[in-house]
Amino acid sequence: MRKIKYEFPLDDFISKEDFNRIKEFAKDKEPPFLIVDLKKIEKMYDELTRNMPFVKIYYAMKANPLDEVIVTLKNKGSNFDAATVYEIEQLIRLGVSPERISYGNTIKKEKDIEYAYSRGIRLFVTDSESDLKKIAKHAPGSRVFFRLLTESDGADWPLSRKFGAHPDVIYELILQATDLGLEPYGLSFHVGSQQRDIGQWDNALSKCKYLFEAVALQGIRLKMLNLGGGFPAKYLSPANELETYAHEILRFIEEDFGEEHPEIIIEPGRSLTADAGIIVTEVVMISKKSKLNQYKWVYLDIGKFGGLIETLNESIKYPIYSESKGYEEEAIIAGPTCDSMDILYEDHKYVFPDTLAEGEHLYIFTTGAYTQSYSSVAFNGFPPLKAYII
Ligand SMILES: *Cc1c(COP(=O)(O)O)cnc(C)c1O
Repeated sequence: MRKIKYEFPLDDFISKEDFNRIKEFAKDKEPPFLIVDLKKIEKMYDELTRNMPFVKIYYAMKANPLDEVIVTLKNKGSNFDAATVYEIEQLIRLGVSPERISYGNTIKKEKDIEYAYSRGIRLFVTDSESDLKKIAKHAPGSRVFFRLLTESDGADWPLSRKFGAHPDVIYELILQATDLGLEPYGLSFHVGSQQRDIGQWDNALSKCKYLFEAVALQGIRLKMLNLGGGFPAKYLSPANELETYAHEILRFIEEDFGEEHPEIIIEPGRSLTADAGIIVTEVVMISKKSKLNQYKWVYLDIGKFGGLIETLNESIKYPIYSESKGYEEEAIIAGPTCDSMDILYEDHKYVFPDTLAEGEHLYIFTTGAYTQSYSSVAFNGFPPLKAYII
């Protein structure tokens, strides 16, 4: 077999200078841990507002709820999409005013709505009659927006089925909201996270246009479109540039709603934080299962339960970098726990240098979103993923 030199496109993910800074910072710390670069989050926020000056941003904080991240985005002028009373509490503790918070979860207890209302929140999502009535009872007069069911085809991390309802149900809910003394404010959808097919926004927007027109015939003028999340981060599977997303999505909006379009909201999570995170992990063990096996197994000190749950079905393919020099060798990558589902990549063969050694540090890029907040509390005794802010 011909030998190929191991190479990794480091420049695609980090500048040499920043990487040296990360290494210096990581030197005396015990892996595994996540490093979050706040400057990079500011940069992503600026890039988003530059490309989409026509939107109002509600950061979906579940992607990375660290206080420092929230405060950074608050200072940038972001609004926030919260899903629970705990997230609302955190935002208020950090000084985010309630006009900048939406309650974006369709699943809520009555007392959650009551609490949110008591803290001044007046913007709620819904997708069912049951929830709408709860909102009317505990958050009278509030603005509500209605979540449409969308297909998640083309998304690396789909969010289909669980949220949203068909346009016929939504139509009835909008009419009912007025009767219940609420303000039907707009529509929302989520095309699936890390959505690489931009056309999915077009499909969802045409459903919105249909509903805007249908309820207008009943004298109800909706004012807002919430395009959700789904904007890309830089993993191994290529996605279009943010600029292309922005350009195409604005074109879809103008085709359906004209230049005098409704207020546009987006709820980015991944695209604001993922690229700002790097996980430093240590190679615990390298082994072969049999003499003839073609592949080595590389066991890391982080796995599905330590923060890399988005490797489920190998959905998200993180860039993983070794500094060793050598020839390419394919490997199966697994985590350190005693659960046999804790295998990160088996079908997609990652390559490492043949000189990869136990004890070596690897760098996992694009891990600022959906990692630490997903890490388990004490599975096999492993503590939740540590995070450092730089
Ligand atoms: C998780 C979530 C988001 C964020 O999606 P990303 O793809 O991470 O940008 C936005 N809106 C809602 C309602 C969500 O649940």
